[in-house]
Amino acid sequence: MITEIKFRQQICEIGKRVYQKGFVAANDGNISTRISENEFLITPTGMSKGYMTPEMIVKVDGQGNVLEGDFKPTSEMKMHLLVYRERPDIHSVVHVHPPYATAFAIAGIPLDQAIMPESVVYLGKIPIAEYGTPSTEEIPNAVKKHVHTHQGVLLENHGALTWGTSLEHAYYLMESLEFSAKINWISKQISGDRELSKKHVQRLVDMKRAMGIMGETPIGSDAPEGSHAIKKSKGVEYTLSEHDLNLIVEKVSKNVIEALKIQN
Ligand SMILES: [Zn+2]
Repeated sequence: MITEIKFRQQICEIGKRVYQKGFVAANDGNISTRISENEFLITPTGMSKGYMTPEMIVKVDGQGNVLEGDFKPTSEMKMHLLVYRERPDIHSVVHVHPPYATAFAIAGIPLDQAIMPESVVYLGKIPIAEYGTPSTEEIPNAVKKHVHTHQGVLLENHGALTWGTSLEHAYYLMESLEFSAKINWISKQISGDRELSKKHVQRLVDMKRAMGIMGETPIGSDAPEGSHAIKKSKGVEYTLSEHDLNLIVEKVSKNVIEALKIQN
């Protein structure tokens, strides 16, 4: 069995990782873990996640009462406790503001495209939890709608939240979520965000079930028979009639001739 000090050290370690990866700025973000049925360790408010030491971590009960610690727990504790209340199988929660995922959260675009096998199988669909004012009941209420059916959410106009069976699991889900958002963004820039077909997604879903991975999966696209994927977002397309093309060629030729005359 992992001792409490080990859990405290693990939270500090995950804090360093999210800080070094640029998932948080200044004192943003919060991390927590369940250590017994009604006892939780959670990060303190107003501290950089990159520079925490084990004794800074606060011990609270399921109602948010401080049981041990010199610091105040994060002001976003309610959404962590909501996840633990709703999901007894969940042992850790990570909340950060990774740039790509947060950009999707600001745009109100869920990560629900079947763009890569790994994200279909391990991450699944990441919905948008509607906007709520931090530290109020609004965020827990918005998260509640998705907590039983997904492994994480994008908090609208705010950031991202993941939950897992261990600190490592919740952290890796967050890393995958940000990676998926980043790849999605980059592929959109080259108008290449092709989505896997329903048939291919179904094969991945079968693998996912066999592995015992929970959560909703993207549906996949209606790609025609014989192709594995179809372009999702439409790029800007220009069509020119032969008449327009002839006019352009004529105009360019005229300009070139004029320019040559001037030079001579
Ligand atoms: Zn936040």
